[in-house]
Amino acid sequence: MTQHPDIALAVSNLCVSFKTAHGWADVVRGIDLQIRRGETLALVGESGSGKSMTALALMGLQPSSARSSGRITVGSRSVTGLNERQWNKLRGKHIGMIFQNPMSSLNPVLTIGEQLAETINRHQRIPRTEANRIAIALLDRMKLPEAALQLGRFPHELSGGMRQRVMIAIAIANRPDVLIADEPTTALDASVQKDILDLLDEIRKENGTAIMLITHDLSLVAHRADRVAVMYAGSLVEEQPADDLIRAARHPYAKALIGARPLRRPRLGPRPRLTDIPGQVPSPADVASNGCSFAPRCAVAVGLCTQQRPNLHRFGPDQAASCHLVSDNPAVPAETAA
Ligand code: SF4
Repeated sequence: MTQHPDIALAVSNLCVSFKTAHGWADVVRGIDLQIRRGETLALVGESGSGKSMTALALMGLQPSSARSSGRITVGSRSVTGLNERQWNKLRGKHIGMIFQNPMSSLNPVLTIGEQLAETINRHQRIPRTEANRIAIALLDRMKLPEAALQLGRFPHELSGGMRQRVMIAIAIANRPDVLIADEPTTALDASVQKDILDLLDEIRKENGTAIMLITHDLSLVAHRADRVAVMYAGSLVEEQPADDLIRAARHPYAKALIGARPLRRPRLGPRPRLTDIPGQVPSPADVASNGCSFAPRCAVAVGLCTQQRPNLHRFGPDQAASCHLVSDNPAVPAETAA
């Protein structure tokens, strides 16, 4: 099937499972996603929802103990069934990733310059002096002070915010078409967070990069994403343009996440109440095979919810939800629409 040229990343029926003492446990359960060139898609959900495992599978980096299936296309290239050598050609050049914890992703025994030069040289056969020049320009671009000096430093000599900027420099060194940013600003203070997210936005606009922003923080979504996909217990439960989701989420889990988001205190009046979502995301081995996986935590569950798994129902090109109570018409609950 030919893919639309605007689509930078397409994922179809992606599944990832791990072997446990009781058999295979499904961590990602049939995800379908698309990201257009120059678009930011936020993938949101609590920890344990399968977001990070989805990201690793998209990079061909899932643990060796996992098995995966489904179809992934980056630009016009199908990456299904690639071997490690083929993945190495693709990673960095066509799809790059910014990891949650730069300290565990940067090599502690190589200088920043060596790591950047190695990344640049993997896809561009250029002399070391030219690679160094590009590395300095990249660090400058990332607003690292005294960029040339940083090339000789080791990761442990930099602050958390500086390490994250180095990670972004490495991820964008070969201008990938798709950039996956897994909680890129967790553990950074608010002003550094804003700088990093602004940088990602600049890169997206300049290069037409498609960005998948993985986050549990819905307050980022409204300002930084075009569309949002909400994951729960390994499945996609809602997809909407960001503004629509924040204004009028349809799936009870997405609504609860929005209710649980910390709100700023209004200038007058009391602080708005923070709604908590009772219970926890079930572990992959405990997800019920029948019924809706959110049912034990859902405030509006009905009898059908524990008997039948809801399908992901598309009600617009960028709109979908999997809930027995969601219909094509947001004003009419599905059970009364029939
Ligand atoms: S299908 Fe039922 S349990 Fe699941 S989210 Fe919808 S109402 Fe809640």
